[in-house]
Amino acid sequence: MFRKVHYRLTLLCAGTTIAILLVMSLIYLYVSETGLSQSQFLSFQHAMDNFVHNFKQQNVITHEWLSHMEANNSYWIRITDNGVPLLFNQRKLDQNRLAVEEEALACFSASFSVENTDPSDEDTDYHLEFPFTASTGADYYACVARISQEQQHTEILVLYPLQELNAKIKSQRLHFALIDLAAVFLLSLFSFFFTKKLLAPIEQNRKEQIQFVAAASHELRTPLAVILSSVSAIKKASPEEEENFLSTIDSEGRRMSRLINDMLLLSQADARAFPIRLQPVECDTLLLNSFESFEPMAKEKNISFAISLPQAALPPCLCDAERFRQVIAILLHNAISYTPSGGSISMALSLDTVKKSETFVLSVIDNGIGIPDEEKEKIFQRFYRSDRSRSIKDHFGLGLPIASEIVRSLGGTIHVADTPGGGSTFLVCLPFRFCSKAPMFDNHKGICYNKNTKKALPTDDQPLD
Ligand code: ADP
Repeated sequence: MFRKVHYRLTLLCAGTTIAILLVMSLIYLYVSETGLSQSQFLSFQHAMDNFVHNFKQQNVITHEWLSHMEANNSYWIRITDNGVPLLFNQRKLDQNRLAVEEEALACFSASFSVENTDPSDEDTDYHLEFPFTASTGADYYACVARISQEQQHTEILVLYPLQELNAKIKSQRLHFALIDLAAVFLLSLFSFFFTKKLLAPIEQNRKEQIQFVAAASHELRTPLAVILSSVSAIKKASPEEEENFLSTIDSEGRRMSRLINDMLLLSQADARAFPIRLQPVECDTLLLNSFESFEPMAKEKNISFAISLPQAALPPCLCDAERFRQVIAILLHNAISYTPSGGSISMALSLDTVKKSETFVLSVIDNGIGIPDEEKEKIFQRFYRSDRSRSIKDHFGLGLPIASEIVRSLGGTIHVADTPGGGSTFLVCLPFRFCSKAPMFDNHKGICYNKNTKKALPTDDQPLD
């Protein structure tokens, strides 16, 4: 499906850009060609002006001068004096040229009506220039002039073949065609890779969605199967067994409900509708409370559990207490689950300088089974569980993805590293902008103020994106 969309998008993108390029090229070519023809015609008119003027000024027209004019300007000159061709025109000329000259004169007579006036009247002199195409298909600029002097009536025809101009135009068109061809190829290539890059995140997202649905269905199938089989077994069970089955149904139902809640939370994060309520939180107190909640669980597994807090009270942190507690719970639950009996876990909270800015750093350190380097990134993917932890029934592989979504929503980061000597260390960094160093904390009203502006910072009314 994505391949089809990719091809269509490539076609659309390349088609549009190529069409624009071609239209622009054609417009440019048209403007440039008409400009070229116009300037050439204007310079021909100008040259004819000079030619006729010089002709008038000279008492004697020499063959050299005329030959010079023809050779230097690629002109064909034909002059008649009172209807008689000049000696110059009695040279042996190409029949083709003579035929073209006749055609040009015929074209002039057909296109312009010049009255036959008194040959002695100099006011009736004229020279007219016009473009002309011979029957052979060749293009020319033509000039027909009449000069009257002392009863002499001179008629001049000058033809200027446009081969050079046409060759110039042809070469320009060829260059444009080649450039356009190269541009079409490059644009098609660019469109192909551009649309591929554009679609990559969407394709990746779709793949993840499919994997998420498959993994979620798989996770839900197990407790559902246990519930259904317990329900059918309950019908034939003794009252004692009935009690057992009911407790199984209850625990599997709770497991399903937990899983569904986790999935809902993640889908809210995807929809950017993750509810985050900011309020000033005394994180050290919150950490102590979590420590107390998890201590019995650690004790039960014979794991030594310690907490380390700075001697001076930490400033309050502007964050969502419930969500932060949830992150701590996920990390502690994992640490206890993946640390064998006899191991040790410690957690600490401090205000450190990380990358030049002050940051709350929460660390949960265990000396448990550890996480291999190749899995360190994967563990934050949804439903990812390492082979070694698949046997633990209470874990779905959604804890760390939820923790990282929460931390991201709070503007922080979460990392995992190896504990020296074995085990895993999880580090959560929350930026100090949520804390009370710049703002002041009003203990009575429970509001954070900015020291400079004296304005209240956003609190629990404002869900954060
Ligand atoms: P789960 O609910 O399976 O623990 P998580 O997303 O919390 O899911 O963790 C993903 C995987 O990361 C776990 O299956 C486990 O393999 C690994 N993991 C997480 N925390 C630890 C830890 N403290 N020590 C070793 N492995 C861990």
